[in-house]
Amino acid sequence: MSDFLKSRLITLGGKGKTRALSIGADAPVSIQTMWKSPLVGADIHDIARKLSLLEQLGCDIVRFAVPDSASASLLCQLAEVTSMPLVADIHFDWRLALACMDGNVAKIRINPGNIGSEDRIAAVVKKAQDTHTALRIGVNSGSLPKDLQARVNDAINAGKDINQARAHALVEAASREVEFFDQLSFTTFLVSMKASSVQETVYSNEEFARKFNHPLHLGVTEAGPLIAGVVKSTLAFSSLLTRGIGSTVRVSLSDNLENEVIAAREILSECGLRKGGVRIVSCPRCGRDGFDVHGFVSRWQRELYSLNKNITVAVMGCIVNGPGEGKHADIGITGAGSEVVIFRHGEIVRRVSTKDGYTETDNAFRQELEKL
Ligand code: SF4
Repeated sequence: MSDFLKSRLITLGGKGKTRALSIGADAPVSIQTMWKSPLVGADIHDIARKLSLLEQLGCDIVRFAVPDSASASLLCQLAEVTSMPLVADIHFDWRLALACMDGNVAKIRINPGNIGSEDRIAAVVKKAQDTHTALRIGVNSGSLPKDLQARVNDAINAGKDINQARAHALVEAASREVEFFDQLSFTTFLVSMKASSVQETVYSNEEFARKFNHPLHLGVTEAGPLIAGVVKSTLAFSSLLTRGIGSTVRVSLSDNLENEVIAAREILSECGLRKGGVRIVSCPRCGRDGFDVHGFVSRWQRELYSLNKNITVAVMGCIVNGPGEGKHADIGITGAGSEVVIFRHGEIVRRVSTKDGYTETDNAFRQELEKL
């Protein structure tokens, strides 16, 4: 039997145009990302269009920084024109959380440690109850309460494992807030305990899941640029998700939103937690290379991942091995010199000259793709 408690189910969204989303228990693990620029000065309708594209890529929730009342008002306006469940990220000013709950914002992320007195947190919880808004208690390794930070320092000075000590402090910080929410009889919330270390992330979420059944939002904070961030997130999430810990994930990257979503869906897919969709297999290229695999993948990746098809696409570097190695693929492409071949389950179905560049080969590939 597992050491870890099965998380309870919560539902968020469902107000106005916003899609309802279940998180926890047996609901699919959802994918989140965070908008990378200020709301103030942006065109709400442009953002709504981009949110639709993110949804096609597999994104379930998007969080926005709300540092001032103008941002709170714009987030409420955005929630009127998109079906994507939106999350307000609030620090310090509890009144901004209240303002966001005047609109159809699905969830508020607060760090109770910087919101201030219990009265203010209680006011946020009360309004969340009244407006059926979910909350996330987000505690961070970098902003632990002073007494817990002192305990961590003592543990380090005593030669104890720093990741264990910090993870324990994160769980203690989260536990205090969970107990306060429990006293207020509020149940529609998630918890996140974020650190930039993989081990600290794993230890803290393991320890929490042994004690509580609140849904966990997994994330490695300040994970770094694309490669480092994907590596850290993959290690942390796969260790936790494969043992049933974690109900929603955000891959945090110094990179674009699309790559955060694609990385998250690949992790979920490889952990067996997300079925279907487009799977891209592509070769690394070698000295036999006769086709620009890297260029093709980078031109087509987003479009392929946005398709509502359950298929495998192979992009291979050479005619010698490509169709054979891509036998399992529903559609594949490879080339040799002045010709590109498109194949299905290893059988060549089309040959296209490359003399006019990519346009003709890309068009032919699109036509074959549409037949699937
Ligand atoms: S498919 Fe061809 S080019 Fe690609 S790695 Fe294999 S042998 Fe090399």
